Amino acid sequence: MPAATAAASLGVLSIEAFPHESHDPSAWPGCRALPVAAVRPGAPSSWTQPHTPFRLYGNTWYVGTQGLSAILVTSPQGHVLIDGTATENAAMIEANIRALGFRVEDVRLILDSHAHADHAGAIARLAKDSGAVVGASVAGAKAIEAGGDDPDDPQHGEAPRFPAAAGVRRIADGERVQVGPLALTAHYTPGHTPGSTSWTWQSCERGRCLAMVYADSLTPLSREGFRYGDDARRVAGFRQAIKAVAGLPCDILMTPHPDANGLLDRAAARDRGTQPDPLVDREACRRYAARNAAALDERLAKEHSPPR
Ligand SMILES: [Zn+2]
Ligand SMILES: [Zn+2]
Repeated sequence: MPAATAAASLGVLSIEAFPHESHDPSAWPGCRALPVAAVRPGAPSSWTQPHTPFRLYGNTWYVGTQGLSAILVTSPQGHVLIDGTATENAAMIEANIRALGFRVEDVRLILDSHAHADHAGAIARLAKDSGAVVGASVAGAKAIEAGGDDPDDPQHGEAPRFPAAAGVRRIADGERVQVGPLALTAHYTPGHTPGSTSWTWQSCERGRCLAMVYADSLTPLSREGFRYGDDARRVAGFRQAIKAVAGLPCDILMTPHPDANGLLDRAAARDRGTQPDPLVDREACRRYAARNAAALDERLAKEHSPPR
């Protein structure tokens, strides 16, 4: 079959493998035709649907929407926000932070999972309003400063652009970033995008400290015609990233798309008193990694299968 058709069917395959992952390339409505910051008619409605902010654990709070995560880690000396969600959600994220009793102006650092519009879109506005520094991996920082225009991104050309942030701090793989008593560690997990980064930290409640993991998307999604298998180094890096996530100390797993691991449902069950606490799952990172490893294998096998 023609290359374009083969690639399109690959996209469908990936989506079927991840029924809860909203990263449907067909949802991008041809971003180049749209002005920056336009509401995308093809985007899932859950991305902009409000969700009541809540405490995940200790000083870690969920301030995202129904379909996109934004995580606030707080301290008396300032806060860290991970991901801004979509461009049009900036005011909602700020309202969520305030609803929990925190000041947006006390957010000192905004970190990014990956430079796609559904996670980094609102970052420029949130940085401006809070005065926070934006931090990302080297490749992620470059992509954020380019408003998502990263030629090395498998979704380049289909993923919509977003407002660029300037002066993004480059954070090395394994580097610990600190805000007051907070310390978060960057783990480069490239594959979904070249700059994809997962973040880990500890949160404590009544003396019980848990390993918090914000694992980036590990889905092998791309524009039509792109083949992961054409670049052995990219595939090796992707496999290493998946392995790295599997090996993280992991008590509570969070993901940029909360429904990729049932985050909001598990939190709701916890708040209903379900025991054992459904949010605490030491196997969650390993399961998340295994599911994505299988999807990558499936994707590569499909790329290499002869045309019918
Ligand atoms: Zn996404
Ligand atoms: Zn993405």
